[in-house]
Amino acid sequence: MEQTTAYDVVVVGGGNAALCAAMAAREAGARVGVLEKAPRQERGGNSALTAQMRFVYNSVDDLRPLMPGASEQDLRAIAELLPRRTEADLWDEIMRATGGQSDPELLQVHVRESYPTVLWLSRKGHRWVPNYTEATAGNIVQMEGGGYGLQQRSFAVLEREGVTIHYETAALALVQDSRGRVVGVRALTPQGILTVEARAVVLACGGFESNAEMRARYLGPGWDTVKMRGVPYNTGDGLRMALEIGALPYGSWSSCHASPQDLQRPGFSLPSARSLGGREWNRYAYPFGLLVNVHGQRFVDEGEDIRALTYAKMGRAILAQPGGKAFQIFDAKAQRLGILKGYEQATGASADSLEALAAKLGIDAAGLVATVTAFNQAAPAGLVTPNPFRPDGRRTQGLTPPKSNYAMRLDEPPFFGYAVCCGITFTFGGLRVDPATAQVQHVAGRPIPGLYTAGEMLGGLWHWNYASGSGLMAGATFGRLAGTHAARAALEP
Ligand SMILES: Cc1cc2nc3c(=O)[nH]c(=O)nc-3n(C[C@H](O)[C@H](O)[C@H](O)COP(=O)(O)OP(=O)(O)OC[C@H]3O[C@@H](n4cnc5c(N)ncnc54)[C@H](O)[C@@H]3O)c2cc1C
Repeated sequence: MEQTTAYDVVVVGGGNAALCAAMAAREAGARVGVLEKAPRQERGGNSALTAQMRFVYNSVDDLRPLMPGASEQDLRAIAELLPRRTEADLWDEIMRATGGQSDPELLQVHVRESYPTVLWLSRKGHRWVPNYTEATAGNIVQMEGGGYGLQQRSFAVLEREGVTIHYETAALALVQDSRGRVVGVRALTPQGILTVEARAVVLACGGFESNAEMRARYLGPGWDTVKMRGVPYNTGDGLRMALEIGALPYGSWSSCHASPQDLQRPGFSLPSARSLGGREWNRYAYPFGLLVNVHGQRFVDEGEDIRALTYAKMGRAILAQPGGKAFQIFDAKAQRLGILKGYEQATGASADSLEALAAKLGIDAAGLVATVTAFNQAAPAGLVTPNPFRPDGRRTQGLTPPKSNYAMRLDEPPFFGYAVCCGITFTFGGLRVDPATAQVQHVAGRPIPGLYTAGEMLGGLWHWNYASGSGLMAGATFGRLAGTHAARAALEP
């Protein structure tokens, strides 16, 4: 027999956006249920595999309440490296990364709400820790315990607050009443179909990055067989369900976040592996070296900007190369400067000459030697200071493509080369919402009563590229808004 249960607000998904929505809806007084497709031990979505959030702070004093464990020495170091990220700075970083295409109304809400939202999260028990020592860092601070810690703490908050989490429960379809209001969700559980009645629904169940058919359909040829960085659960179900009732698609459906990954990385990742420490598959030292294809040719400006503002589009550039792979090339200086920290288990080779390195990696030797020779002639002498928060302006002269920052000659053996591929992180195409409430809009030009969305499902913020730490932050800012407004709608007399 078909099972039924009821809440004021049902939240679909178990990632950060969903849990922020659930916490906010509960705070607003609603009875809340959460549907998570994954089993309990793999709960938390891509959010459980993350590290950091990108938010506004006007001085290190704003960071103090978030990092009670940080020493004065840490705070001094942060004050020196990145003393503030104002609203104007965050706006500029995201517009720089997206080529000015981020929806200004959405971005304004995101920028304005980022610091109040991290304070709200800290009141729920979340903490941050300094993260300024890595040459490849995406941000100056990160979550305590990473995204895995973030998600475990948020689940614990919800469990304490009496929110029911339904695991292994995959939403299938939205239920509407005769006036078009969304009044529930039909879901598949191991026991069969469950109908969850609700007065409002928040869809926060990720993008379509784990769905090969949708990747091919929207992102294009080659994306169907690409490796995923994240969980296998985000198969575009929420987007499909919403489009089925006329939700308005919005944002960049043909682009996604995809970054350089170790060639041998597995096809997806699970939160349980992260809880055990997990192996690092990201290969983010490329701004300080050269990126070449099997012909030994460069194909991007590796130092176009800081790593945090270029890595999300590097995956696509690598996928477009022969065999869908590329090689990051460094010399002894990179190792001495600590740039290759985290590469200890990377797929690659070292050799005393470029020819020998090329032979070991399967790169055309003449091509690699010609590329490095031309680069060395165009690059300034001396060492880079591997600062991941500010571009250093050490650029090549007369080289195509240029290297606009962090240019350092490759002239000191041994040489190192690492094989990389494209790994998709998440998709950018989403739904159109009212920026003030996160309520989903209908193609008929009206809001859909009772339907809200957040996280990867919210369209319009990211286009072809992205600023690191923004997915979690946007999930939190709009998740909180979605949960608050869903609860208000649900509790209206
Ligand atoms: C390896 C990795 C590292 C990353 N690092 C960072 C970082 O440091 N900082 C950052 O900001 N971003 C990072 N990101 C991106 C970030 O994970 C996302 O932008 C963000 O987590 C999206 O949150 P979300 O809640 O929308 O999605 P997710 O966290 O992916 O959650 C989606 C949830 O929906 C569930 N679900 C899917 N379908 C259904 C269904 N039909 N019914 C019920 N539930 C369903 C899934 O099981 C999952 O729980 C990283 C991503 C990856 C993969």
